[in-house]
Amino acid sequence: MTPEEFRRYGKQVIDWIADYQEKVEAHPVRSQVGPGDVLAALPAHPPEAGEGFAGVLADLDEVIMPGITHWQHPGFYAYFPANASGPSILGELLSAGLGVQGMLWATSPACTELETRVTGWLAELLDLPAELRGNGVIQDSASSACMVAIRAALHRADPAAAREGITGRHTLYVSSQTHSSLEKGARVTGIGAGNVRVVDVDPGTLAMDPAHLDELITADVAAGAVPVLVCATIGTTSTTAIDPVGAIGEVCRRHGVWLHVDAAYAGVAAVCPELRWINDGLAGHADSYATNPHKWLLTNFDCTVLWVADREAVTAALSILPEYLRNRATASGEVVDYSDWQIPLGRRFRALKLWAVIRWYGAEGLREHIRTGVRLADDLAGWIAADPAFEVLPHHPFGLVCFRPRWEGLPDEDADAATLDLMERLNASGDLYLTHTRVGGRVVLRMAIGAPATTGRHVRAAWQKISEAVARA
Ligand SMILES: *Cc1c(COP(=O)(O)O)cnc(C)c1O
Repeated sequence: MTPEEFRRYGKQVIDWIADYQEKVEAHPVRSQVGPGDVLAALPAHPPEAGEGFAGVLADLDEVIMPGITHWQHPGFYAYFPANASGPSILGELLSAGLGVQGMLWATSPACTELETRVTGWLAELLDLPAELRGNGVIQDSASSACMVAIRAALHRADPAAAREGITGRHTLYVSSQTHSSLEKGARVTGIGAGNVRVVDVDPGTLAMDPAHLDELITADVAAGAVPVLVCATIGTTSTTAIDPVGAIGEVCRRHGVWLHVDAAYAGVAAVCPELRWINDGLAGHADSYATNPHKWLLTNFDCTVLWVADREAVTAALSILPEYLRNRATASGEVVDYSDWQIPLGRRFRALKLWAVIRWYGAEGLREHIRTGVRLADDLAGWIAADPAFEVLPHHPFGLVCFRPRWEGLPDEDADAATLDLMERLNASGDLYLTHTRVGGRVVLRMAIGAPATTGRHVRAAWQKISEAVARA
């Protein structure tokens, strides 16, 4: 493709994306295709001769779009949001345009130094504790961030493990509400899912019980195990529950165990001073902390930021320097090589999109976005609470509201089935998209507000649809 051809098709692509943003609401939120439909519409074999780009754009509309679930649709309330704003898309395009592989400082100094600067900016915007600031790195996902934390913690607990493999029994501590990436991390690092201990939660708040954590660690140490890492969560995936980070941190400090804090979804809310209390307990306790601008902070997937208090623990655990990567800058010790801070070697220039986002919106714009989500969720929770046909769970000041129809008179099991059935009908309508979880064994619906296109009008219409569907049932 010549630069002239690129210019022509590139303009068409930008127009296509702008049209999509304008008309996203016209699509059904959740894709309506069945398994295999998209596959069957695609040629079984690749073209022998090049076909040009016009056909790609045509097939994008005809074959691909029906199989798209519209995460930027104002009626998307499933999982957690995955914001893709204009400046982040443009930053992503520039990253692809430069085609940089930023594994070492020497492979593009700006890739490394912009990342150091913007992760520092974000730490300041979130008011993270001093020991974490300056030690930020962008990862593809919170799952990778937790893998890095586990590997670094393992190094601190057992420095020989990288060379000799895990010899003793090592343990990790989570709660029933912790994200599944911790268990996956235990499998991948060789600690083993069987060595993941599940700490009790308070049945009301679903927050981890630090006293039970203390008991489990004490018993494991007495039995000869080496506790490696505790994961506390600020804003769990299921219900946005918040673990008592300070009290958990005290237990970690007493036993010399690494504390990883997973704030993948909710952490970015700390851009708002009135929500900074979610960081309580981090200072002096968190060895690592991760949050995802790619969920609720207007940055398209992928962009997780991980900060560590002790960068030596991370690089000692993950640094490898084969001959073909040796270079003067690395040898001088004056530069950061971020490949030493992650699992893969290669790395994308993700800092560009986060830089574009922070510069476009400014701290004020980022706060405004978070506050809009919080306000809309508050309004929704109020309407649900006022409707006797529904029960709303106590919600945290983020964008997620958990609730369920009461289905008076139905036994629990039938009520749960009716709730799931209702969700399926609503999702099939194409107007909105909800997901569910279980709390105390009961099915509850999750409505996660936070797509930039979602306004009060959309949330009100969604609630009307939900309440009418229950009234009719
Ligand atoms: C979404 C989420 C994750 C996983 O995030 P990825 O970036 O998709 O790996 C981890 N922890 C929590 C609390 C989450 O909400």
